[in-house]
Amino acid sequence: MNSHARISNPPDETSHGKKKNAKLKVKTKEYKIHKQKHFCFITNKYMSKIILTGDRPTGRLHLGHYVGSLKRRVELQNSGEFDKIYIMIADAQALTDNADNPEKVRQNIIEVALDYLSCGLDPEKSTIFIQSQVPELCELAFYYMNLVTVSRLQRNPTVKTEIQMRNFETSIPVGFFTYPISQASDITAFKATTVPAGEDQEPMLEQAREIVRRFNSTYGEVLVEPSILLPNNSACLRLPGTDGKAKMSKSLGNCIYLSDTPEDVKKRVMSMFTDPDHLRVQDPGKIEGNTVFTYLDAFCKDEHFAKYFPDYANLDELKAHYQRGGLGDVKVKKFLNAILQEELEPIRERRKQFEQDIPGVYQMLKRGSEVARETAAATLADVRKAMRINYFDDEELIRTQAEQKRNK
Ligand code: ATP
Ligand code: MG
Repeated sequence: MNSHARISNPPDETSHGKKKNAKLKVKTKEYKIHKQKHFCFITNKYMSKIILTGDRPTGRLHLGHYVGSLKRRVELQNSGEFDKIYIMIADAQALTDNADNPEKVRQNIIEVALDYLSCGLDPEKSTIFIQSQVPELCELAFYYMNLVTVSRLQRNPTVKTEIQMRNFETSIPVGFFTYPISQASDITAFKATTVPAGEDQEPMLEQAREIVRRFNSTYGEVLVEPSILLPNNSACLRLPGTDGKAKMSKSLGNCIYLSDTPEDVKKRVMSMFTDPDHLRVQDPGKIEGNTVFTYLDAFCKDEHFAKYFPDYANLDELKAHYQRGGLGDVKVKKFLNAILQEELEPIRERRKQFEQDIPGVYQMLKRGSEVARETAAATLADVRKAMRINYFDDEELIRTQAEQKRNK
């Protein structure tokens, strides 16, 4: 195994962030973002910049995950701008619609972990953990459930779409219905400020912010309101499936996986949905809703033309020719295939190396889960204290009641 593929320890919770915090001086009572150093000051308290994000282990990761969140996470991780980064494999959430198939979830944890490592997530810089190994998250979700109404959950547009996709209309599992609450607990347990995710996660973040506001106003300022960090390229907000459907999704079987062989990627690209009315090469073609061009918007850079398609200087020129007519789908697909192969080749190679050390990957996940658990437990302790359900630590409660009963 080369040095690139070595699996290292997760960051040490006690030393990493706290040392940094100690150096900071509290300067203002107002809410303010210090642009250069990216530190937030809220009501006299230093607030670390913390990332929490993750994926459901329902399959290997695909290009939608990559452009929607994964690539960005790696860039943010390497930017050094964040105090802590938590990456969660959301197995408990995956079970909410796979209760009868826990084996699928069990088998895919390693696949997601391998995809993470091969894309460049580094356990030395990011804490990678498994959701179910942090039981504190369930307890938090249980308390948050009291802060959300059924009708509020019913209004969540992503959940509505997913219920339809899964044919749950007449029998929604309660766990699935309430997963936005569980997601709020995942985010807030780590006091995350930033959640890099695709557009479908916006309603979840809105729900999480509402819970935070409700909790803080009811029990006191404990939780932190998170913000979503969407991809800056609009084609990546919701990458369509190869079949042209609105979203590439494991559950829809319309994916190009990061670990697909070069042959599979080529097959998927060559059979991709384009403009159904573009029947002959000389016909004018449509760009809007044409999956091949959406993928080019997501992946293509000017330098790709010099390398693979020197007839054109940039994507605008290629699009103009397609729209005028005289450019066939096959040529454009071959170009897209070359770009995707270039992007996926190093990921595939790194994956092969990590696959040689599966016990090492599990060890890394175990250590990450331990670190994550410590943080979640600290937040849970704050939550219990704020809710005043920390009875055994509450000497005043015990003393007052003792006096009351004695003096009866
Ligand atoms: P499932 O079908 O099991 O829900 P999924 O393919 O939708 O799987 P998730 O694990 O739900 O994947 O999503 C993980 C992350 O990837 C989220 O941040 C989500 O926004 C992002 N993501 C998933 N699919 C896409 C896509 N097609 N385009 C952009 N981002 C995506
Ligand atoms: Mg999903």
